[in-house]
Amino acid sequence: MEALKQRIRTSGRALNSQVLLVDMFLNNQVDCALMDEIGEEFKRLFEAEGVTKVVTIESSGIAPAAMTSLRMGVPMIILKKATSVILSDGILQTEVFSFTKRTSYQLTLKTEFIQPGERVLLIDDFLANGEAAMGASKLIERAGGKVVGIGAVISKNFQPGMQRLKEAGYNVKSLAEIVNMGEGFVEFADNEGEKA
Ligand code: 5GP
Repeated sequence: MEALKQRIRTSGRALNSQVLLVDMFLNNQVDCALMDEIGEEFKRLFEAEGVTKVVTIESSGIAPAAMTSLRMGVPMIILKKATSVILSDGILQTEVFSFTKRTSYQLTLKTEFIQPGERVLLIDDFLANGEAAMGASKLIERAGGKVVGIGAVISKNFQPGMQRLKEAGYNVKSLAEIVNMGEGFVEFADNEGEKA
């Protein structure tokens, strides 16, 4: 998606060869107009799949997932990263190792929101090692849903997540596929070496 790649070039910042900061438009400050375009693009990519729910992981997946859900006309469900006193019954959990926090958390689904037979589109901000997406898919499937698509706003294809999900049979799409990056540059799959 050209507008997104352009935004990564102008406002993204590769901290090092592994971590990209996009807090100017996705992780802290949110560019809702860009999120809306992202939602439209995910709709275009997945509309043939008969999606009944969009599922995401708090917190940075919420903005792109909300726009996708709005465009597709189906509800958005948020998977939580911790339990609380108001989230203790009727839940499914799996442990996920966080790429950014370098620690594990309990990814949590409130099961009443995923009925058996539900066709789920999973949306997240980043795809790195695939831990979050694999954990989320496992929860959706344990609840009886089918993951009919996985959409990443940004994937770092030099990390194993993209290949892992494809090998597991998922229909995974990314709107900005990064093949290489380092301090001051980001290179996308279509071989555009650009400053970031
Ligand atoms: P994974 O589970 O695929 O290893 O990592 C995905 C999760 O880690 C995403 O939900 C995202 O929040 C976070 N993440 C992974 N890589 C990056 C990155 O380069 N930048 C930012 N801002 N978040 C990332």
